[in-house]
Amino acid sequence: MKVLVIGSGAREHALVWKIAQSDRVSKIYCAPGNGGIQKIAECINIRANDINMLLNFALKEQIDLTVVGPEAPLVDGIVDIFEENGLKIFGPNKKAARLEGSKVYSKNFMDKYNIPTAKYITYETFQKAMEGLKDFDYPLVIKADGLAGGKGVLICENEIEAENGIVELMNNKKFGEAGEKIVIEEYLEGIEASLLCLINGENIVPMESARDYKKIYDNDEGPNTGGMGCFSPNTIFDEELKDKITKEILEPLKVGFKEENMIFKGVLFIGLMITNNGPKVLEFNVRMGDPETEVVLPRLESDIVDIFEKVIDGVLDKDDLKWTSKKCLTVITASEGYPIKYEKGKEISGLDNLDKDIIVFHGGTKKTEDSLVTNGGRVLAVTALANTLEEARRLAYRNIEKINFEGMYYRKDIGAL
Ligand code: AMP
Repeated sequence: MKVLVIGSGAREHALVWKIAQSDRVSKIYCAPGNGGIQKIAECINIRANDINMLLNFALKEQIDLTVVGPEAPLVDGIVDIFEENGLKIFGPNKKAARLEGSKVYSKNFMDKYNIPTAKYITYETFQKAMEGLKDFDYPLVIKADGLAGGKGVLICENEIEAENGIVELMNNKKFGEAGEKIVIEEYLEGIEASLLCLINGENIVPMESARDYKKIYDNDEGPNTGGMGCFSPNTIFDEELKDKITKEILEPLKVGFKEENMIFKGVLFIGLMITNNGPKVLEFNVRMGDPETEVVLPRLESDIVDIFEKVIDGVLDKDDLKWTSKKCLTVITASEGYPIKYEKGKEISGLDNLDKDIIVFHGGTKKTEDSLVTNGGRVLAVTALANTLEEARRLAYRNIEKINFEGMYYRKDIGAL
């Protein structure tokens, strides 16, 4: 089979790495890929949101299966377009992708099908949003309706911050159209957890759980990032919580899919806050998470190409997924200044001297003629698989010390419970 993976981060590196283990695959392309992916796939110079170019490429090369990493092409309808052209593609169609593409839609969906979530009001004008603030206590959360590269969520401690937030989103149009509508919602206290589910039509199969670390600094301080580390499984998911999530979230989701005539095929990433009143949904994403993918896929023993095909054909069963009991942990090394302002082009060294059990998934890296350089905020996901979480943590940190680039920053407390 010829497989095309779309995207350029550590998530896509993990996908390509896992797909390359399938006996059924003879060739992997990645668009656009990165400095690490190009070692195991042919990287082609097409951006992830250039759907026409991707379609032409897939038709010309007779790609047997396309796997979409990031959300933007899904929200733009890449699945519908590929399917209309007779191509097999893994991911939800445009209608289903609205669960991530519009926070207003997704909150209204949760409300309609009684899926527990933070209390909220949606606003379409600046004036109404400013007036609406009086109906909330602080802290409160303001969310841009559309995609904002993970930066469209503002947690506001007081009225001044909230007013500034609304001005930025709705008046200054910081995220363009994405901020034309906003959601204001109550702030939830609790422990955050994420659950990735494979969905084929109405059948929902949860994957192994993961715990990610969103804040830039140790002890969860500082601004939010795309994710600074992760481990799997997440110890918080005991049987009682799993049952609750199935009953209170997954079952109503199925009802919603049916009632809305939504045929969801792909991965749904459910961002949860486990509160004293039970699990509540913070957000839906319609694709794998990054860095969750980097710790979940190394634990998957089954052939991922079989799984993708079964999802597309609507026949995936829970027993198709075989998992190792080993634990997996990843630490992200980032460029100094991330998530705000950082430089690129710093030479990366030390990757040839790592222990053999270490997997390094590349995020923002680029191969130049004679070296590998940084090319983004999150640079490498240094990943270890071991019998215990402590061992995986020790291995990952021991090996990070061998890696170097100017301004390399990483959290020291990933997996330290
Ligand atoms: P989202 O993109 O909606 O998941 O939001 C990004 C991050 O903001 C989440 O991972 C949480 O850390 C935080 N967040 C979002 N909504 C809330 C909320 N209602 N209460 C507390 N924290 C939230």
